[in-house]
Amino acid sequence: MIHSCQRKTITFAQLGPLETSTVEQALFRANELQTAFYFKPEFYNYRLPLDEMYRLANGGYDLCGAVKHSLLRLKEFRKLPRPLIVLTSALFGDADDPNNPEAFYFSSQEDDYNPKVTIITTQPSEELAAFNLQQYLFMMLSAHILSTYVNISYHEQRGCLLDYDDEWRNDDNCLNSGALCDECEVEIQKRLRGKQITIEEIAAAIRLFNRAIRKKYCFVVMPFSADFDCVYKAVQEALEEKGWEVKRSDDVAFSRLITESVLREILVSDLVLADFSGCNQNVAYEVGLTHALGSDLLLIAQNPPPFNLANEQTVLYRIDDLEHLKIAVQRAAGSA
Ligand SMILES: [Zn+2]
Repeated sequence: MIHSCQRKTITFAQLGPLETSTVEQALFRANELQTAFYFKPEFYNYRLPLDEMYRLANGGYDLCGAVKHSLLRLKEFRKLPRPLIVLTSALFGDADDPNNPEAFYFSSQEDDYNPKVTIITTQPSEELAAFNLQQYLFMMLSAHILSTYVNISYHEQRGCLLDYDDEWRNDDNCLNSGALCDECEVEIQKRLRGKQITIEEIAAAIRLFNRAIRKKYCFVVMPFSADFDCVYKAVQEALEEKGWEVKRSDDVAFSRLITESVLREILVSDLVLADFSGCNQNVAYEVGLTHALGSDLLLIAQNPPPFNLANEQTVLYRIDDLEHLKIAVQRAAGSA
């Protein structure tokens, strides 16, 4: 079980107003970024009505009521595929609190009649000055995967994607958090061990979230030897100067199974940088995994790599001239 090619399909329908072309582009990019889910926009075929009767006193709409009525009463919508995400750009109000000027939601899962239907509004993206609609959607999809498929729930504020926020206009807190908290990581590990989720599904959520916050991540594999510490430091400095986050395989300590941790890091990275000096066997294994998973790879080496890697993009460097390596790595990362 290294890599599953089975993608879970999630269908998208439209409710009332929606910028469908921008959303379709975002879903297309989301499909390119990860391999676990296929986000299938069906806005042309499935367009649910949003009547004025669902409008609330505070200007929002009772979207849950509108979706529920369409899916239960209208024959053409009753058999929509599941899981289903219903998207709208309408303001998402609360039918139980129709006068409250602060009572708005981003999304809701329709537990009362169908747990496989989720409603998401794109409206809050209009309030976020620093983030566009695509980034907002990536964040919502990431949170959706984690809450639905990984089954971890929103919690109090602790600098995590899944911080629950009472102030609905402070949505960018989640985007600014930049990471998952340790408690969420522990939950993820438990579910991975229990085989309730796959590494690909976790990686999909993390890839989407990283892209939402414009984070670029490089995973570095090299022999476990103090001789390479100065090489790692040079690579790390070069990439951090360009705004990348950099980790080495021995920094990755969450899982008891080293191969699982490495697999996850390769899946979530924008670039895998491998030092092939001395043809180390662990490095060879991880380069093989990177090839199999189709992630971007940059080889560095003090001597030319073996024949069957000769076509790979390779930076040859000398240990007494790491400045040259830094410049070459920055150049290669610029195109990743
Ligand atoms: Zn958390």
